[in-house]
This record gives sequence, structure tokens and C-alpha cells, in this order.
Amino acid sequence: MDKEQTIRKMDSALIDLVTAGEVIERPASVIKELIENSIDAQAKAIRVEIRRGGVASVKVTDNGHGMSRADLGMCLKNHATSKIAKVDDLFQIRQMGFRGEALPSIAAVAHLRISTRRPQDVEGSLLEAHGGQEDEICAAGCPPGTEIEMRELFYNIPVRRKFLKGPDTEAGHIEHQIKLYALAYPEIRFTYLRDGQVVFDMAATHDHRQRIAECTKREFAEGLLRMCPVNAPGIHVEGFLTPLSEAQNSKNLQFVFLNGRPIRDKVVMRAVRDGFGGNVKGLHPGLIMFMEVEPALVDVNVHPTKQEVRFMRQTDVTTAIIDAIAGTLSAHSRGLSTPCAPPQPPPAPQPHSPRAAAPAPAAPQSPPPHAAEALARPAQAPATRTLSSPPYRTLTPQAIPPHPTPARLQLITEPRQDSLPLPPDEQEGPAPTGDNFELLGVIRHRYILFENAEGLVLVSVRAARERIVFEQVMVSEREQVVSQALLQACMVELDVRKSELVRKLHPLFVQAGFRITEFGQRTLRIEAIPPYLQPSEIQGFVTEFIEEYTEGDARLLNRGNAFQPFAMRMAQEYVKRENVDYWLAHPRTLLSELRNCENPYCTPHGKPTMIPFTINEIRRKFRM
Ligand code: ADP
Ligand code: MG
Repeated sequence: MDKEQTIRKMDSALIDLVTAGEVIERPASVIKELIENSIDAQAKAIRVEIRRGGVASVKVTDNGHGMSRADLGMCLKNHATSKIAKVDDLFQIRQMGFRGEALPSIAAVAHLRISTRRPQDVEGSLLEAHGGQEDEICAAGCPPGTEIEMRELFYNIPVRRKFLKGPDTEAGHIEHQIKLYALAYPEIRFTYLRDGQVVFDMAATHDHRQRIAECTKREFAEGLLRMCPVNAPGIHVEGFLTPLSEAQNSKNLQFVFLNGRPIRDKVVMRAVRDGFGGNVKGLHPGLIMFMEVEPALVDVNVHPTKQEVRFMRQTDVTTAIIDAIAGTLSAHSRGLSTPCAPPQPPPAPQPHSPRAAAPAPAAPQSPPPHAAEALARPAQAPATRTLSSPPYRTLTPQAIPPHPTPARLQLITEPRQDSLPLPPDEQEGPAPTGDNFELLGVIRHRYILFENAEGLVLVSVRAARERIVFEQVMVSEREQVVSQALLQACMVELDVRKSELVRKLHPLFVQAGFRITEFGQRTLRIEAIPPYLQPSEIQGFVTEFIEEYTEGDARLLNRGNAFQPFAMRMAQEYVKRENVDYWLAHPRTLLSELRNCENPYCTPHGKPTMIPFTINEIRRKFRM
């Protein structure tokens, strides 16, 4: 060889070691890749066991779909993946893995032992590899699912091994990594053993807060506010955060997930900081944020471990994040932080520069709206209802209506004239909000204009009602369901496909207050319904609700938080059929109901419910 020549082509074994180094940095990186594979394999339970900080061994066992013997033979080959096949797939990535790098990388730098079995196979298969050299596959008796054990990380690269930290530090990284996925997938059970001791065993749950409590601290989870979800085309943001007032010692409690994957992205974190007000020096508000961005709009393929991402419409994404955080904080600081005073006037939301709410002037107490009024809408026919307790939330003292609550109460709703808009407030009595909101008028039969000390506020009846009804439906996620028993059971006719869907959604219907006692091929027997529905409209409601459901949210059926989209649909369907005239005639009731909401400023889909025009804004517009 020419003495001068210093550039040489690496041999393939060396290439493997170099690429492995990019993906596998420490035992926690192995854990990350193995957990991602288990999630991709649709596991419902994942068990992680480590010894000596994971340097001696890590073992991940799942009950996912397993691999055939032929696939097992392929999975250690470089760039072998079952997850993408063509270039287009790269832009539709739904799964965690797709580079087909993880297993070969781990195999290159450790001893690996994979046993796997598909549920439909009578026996499983076993493969061992040492520093990338594969043994023959043999048959093995094992339960359905996959178990991957890695031993002696970097046994063949002493230099790398020297860079590993002590067992406690490495175990700390591992625990953090497992918890990241546990936070993102509460519906998966996660068990973690360190040197034979169980560190945690988190049962599968649909309750995100419970999982957060298990991964962090109970007090932290309980102090969290549910974020006001924001939707933009192809983008959805939701989650939990701590109000700034409680942000002192929650360092390291910011978690961001993009399409189910934990990320640490600079652009996203900057938007998070802006959402919290930009200048939060020394404060570390907690945040557990879940973003869903249409796969075509995000490139996760810019970083080997996929922690950094590139967005196609970056501004839309950052705006959604800022709006979600700032909107939640502003709603909280004005509404819920003073639970004993009536909610304060709607602020001028300035999503891009939220400011801490100034203490608002005390407003005189006034009688709350009559809740039966608030829930009722023009009845088509007199209906007899049997209520067991009032169907509204009891969030603040103001929200509790002056309403008798005997165990069983007969309530006759009077038929109302609902074709003509009633003159505003004729039936309403004094303003139930009892503050400085002055009613100015109705616009285009859809919007109501109010004036207050800060300027004008335009309220959309539809949007406001969607928010109010949504929160009423969501109450049943936390509290005992309230339903009205029907004196006469209602038979609902559906086609086969729809009644099958109702059967699938049955737990959600129950949670929302329905009691369905019989499922025929084409008929349902409904014995109780949520308090806000009229018996006469059940058939129409269920039929149309289900119709839309198939098209829209069916995808979410298997997700942990299935009730929320269900409640969103319920609210939408309900409000769609509602007579707007009633609310145009009772604008103050509407406003006060809205302001009693946890998140009054947007619909569950993230559209605004009210738009303020401050005097300053108006002055600026007139330039005088
Ligand atoms: P990638 O996840 O990027 O496809 P990996 O190297 O992580 O690449 O895995 C290679 C392949 O091995 C996967 O595509 C999958 O088919 C299979 N596989 C790996 N782990 C599991 C598992 N726990 N259960 C089922 N199949 C698995
Ligand atoms: Mg993978």
C-alpha cells in the first residue's frame, strides 16, 4: 500500500461498530430501542429487567405480536425493517422504528439473545448473536411475544466501555427512559426490575393523571391543569401543565411527545417557553404535552435517535403550542384560581404574549343561573324526567344551582315556543353573572355582543354551547354518572354496522350516562339517558352520532383517552341539533355558564368561543 495514502475504505465490521455507536450510547439507549420495538409490536405489557446498571444485562419482555422464524432470521440484518417498504412510507411514519438499525447495532456491540413467538404459532424460535455473529436459529418453547436480552454491552469495544458511568447513574438514565414511554402509553403496563428488585409495576390505565402520578409524584399530578386542546389542520396539542404559581421545584418535569414519541426539540421547547410567557427565569413549570402532527408534516428522520424533528409548517406548530399553553394559563388565572369569587371578565387573549392575570376587582355576588334552565333547551313535547341528582358540575360554589336535590325528583318541562326568538332577557330576570357585562345585541342570529370595562366581547352561541356541553359530558369521566331513567324504555333501530359500533363503544356510552340493556342485530334497548337529552330525540341522536363517529374518531377508539373524543362528538352532535333561539333569548345565562367552564375560551376542538376587542385595540384601529 502507498505510504502516503491515509484514506481507506472501512471494512463492514468496522462500519457496523461506527454506526452502532451513533444509536447505542449507553444501556439506556438499548432500553429505548427495545421498548419502542415492543410498542410497535402492540404489546399491552412491557417488562424491563436490568443488572448492574444495565451494563451486565438488560432484558425486555413483551406480549406483542412476536416474529416468525423467517423474520427472526432477518431482524439482525442491517436496515432490515418490517415497517417501511418504499420512499413514500417515510412520509407516513406512524411507528416508532423504521430505520432497521437498532437490533443490528445492539448485536454489533454486545451479546444478544432473542426468543419470540407469534400467538398463532405452536412453538417459538430462539436466536443468539455475539458481536454481530449470529448462531443458528433454533426452536424454543416460549410464551407469545418477544424477549430480548442483551449482555455485556461494549464487551468488544473496551474504549466505549470505559466511558460508561457507574451502575447508579446508568440505572438512573434507564429509569428515566422507561418512564418517558410509560407517560406516553398509560394503556400499556410497565414493570421495571433492577438487580432482582421490583422498582415499579404500573398497571395499564386509561387515566393519564394516574400514570403521571406513578411516574412523578402524586402531588405533582394532582396540581396539574388539563390543557385546553388546540387543533389546527394536521396538528393537535393537548396535555397537562402546572400553573406558574406552583412552578418552583419541578425541574426536569417537562415532557413533550410527538406522535407518541418523546422528543427534545429546540424549536418545540422555545415555543413552550413562549407559551409560559417567555420570561420564566428560574421557574420550572411542569408540562406533559402530547402533540399529534400528521406524519406527512414532520420529518423524524433527522436524528439517529429521533429526538429532534423537522416540521414542514413550523409556525403553525409553534403557534398551536403557544396557544395551548397560554390559553390554559390564562383561563386558569382568571377563572379557577379564585374559586370563591365569580369568574372574572374574559380577558383579551394575547396568545403570543400572555401576561399573568392582574387581580380583578371583586364583583358583587349574584344568584347563579338556574341550572335546569341552563341545561334545558326548548322541549319538543312535554317530557317527564326522573332525575336522581342535578346534572351539572360542582366546580365552584357559583356553579351549584339553588335547586332542590331530593333523591328522586319529578321534573316536568313545560313546552316552550321555540320558533320565535324571545325578546332578550324577558324570561331571564336579573343578570345572573352579576358583573359588568352589558348586553349590546345579537348579530346574524349567531353571535352575541357584550360590553364590559375592557371593551367588547363577541360570543359565538354554537361554540359556547359546545364548550359548555362538552364539560358537562366530561364530568362523568371523574364523577358518578348521572342519568335519567326512562319511564318507558326506548328502542333504537340501527343498521348492523352501526349497532356493532355502539357495542364497541358501549363502555363510553355507559360512562356518558346511557344504560343500554339489549343489543339486537338491529335494535338497542335504552333504559336510561344522559340528563341533557330528551327521550324523544334518542333515536335521531344515536343514529347521527354513530354516523359521524365512524367517519371521524373511530381511529381513536383504541387509544387510552377514548372518552374525550367521545365527549367532543357528543357535544358537537348535541349542539348541532339544538335550537339557537333559546340561547339568543337567554344570553346572560349562556355567558355565565360559559364563564363557569374550566376552559371557557375555546371549544373542545380549539376554536374560540368568544373574541374580545379591547378598547385599546379599537382605539388603535381608529388611530385616535
Ligand atoms: P425498526 O424498529 O427500525 O424496524 P429494529 O432493528 O429495531 O428496526 O427491528 C427490526 C425488526 O425486528 C422490526 O422491524 C420488527 O419487524 C422486528 N422486531 C424487533 N423487535 C420486535 C418485537 N419486540 N416484537 C416483534 N417484532 C420485533
Ligand atoms: Mg426499532
